[in-house]
Amino acid sequence: MSDTDFFQGKVKTVFNTAEPDKVLIQYEDKVTAGNGRKVDFPEGKGKVCMEISALLFQVMEKHGIRTHYIDTIPERIMTCKKVDIIPIEVVVRNIAAGSIVRQTTLEEGQVINWPLVEYYLKDDEKDDPLLTEDRVNLMGYGDVLEDLEYTAREVNAILKEIFRKIGLTLVDFKLEFGYDSEQNLLLADELSPDGMRLWKEGKSFDKDLFRKGEGNIVDAYKMILSKLSQ
Ligand code: C5P
Repeated sequence: MSDTDFFQGKVKTVFNTAEPDKVLIQYEDKVTAGNGRKVDFPEGKGKVCMEISALLFQVMEKHGIRTHYIDTIPERIMTCKKVDIIPIEVVVRNIAAGSIVRQTTLEEGQVINWPLVEYYLKDDEKDDPLLTEDRVNLMGYGDVLEDLEYTAREVNAILKEIFRKIGLTLVDFKLEFGYDSEQNLLLADELSPDGMRLWKEGKSFDKDLFRKGEGNIVDAYKMILSKLSQ
């Protein structure tokens, strides 16, 4: 296999296929935090993240949100449409936590009544800095900003309701988007507790368990998957 046949991400590997518009995304048994500074390899993590993502991508499709998802291959491979990823991470916040608490005067747990949609540069070497709208315009992505915000708010409304039904509060999450070969804008990457904060009675059921060394993420993710599947 040559270097151009696959791309190694932090926790996923993307393989090209014989079909130019299709890729295979393998979810690895790996978790990272602090931009890769903290790493672990929990068994079963790839499979549970892949299954939660598959389920949530299918829900989005049912709501008319176009995604890169096609189907899954056991144990932890997702077949997806190939996209050119937009180098902007879209974060939606319903409740203050994480970086917004570190960087502003907001207190953890403060409710954000009109959910905040933020844009961060997708560039690990630059530590994913927060972008301004003007910077996004200068980067040449001004035209797509409205679509990103609109879709992110729609995804937020759908996810909030799904998690509310299983007793979890959706605090915040990150989305990535890309263009397929026909220039359709698709929701891409992953939709799992690795890229979200989910709270229940003051406890986290997401990657904060790993970030803060407070518990087993695979058990928490499996609990979420089993409730979502019911
Ligand atoms: O770190 P911060 O508080 O800005 O993260 C906001 C949300 O976006 C969290 O749910 C976090 O897990 C997610 N996120 C992510 N990948 C990043 C940055 C943030 O999944 N590179």
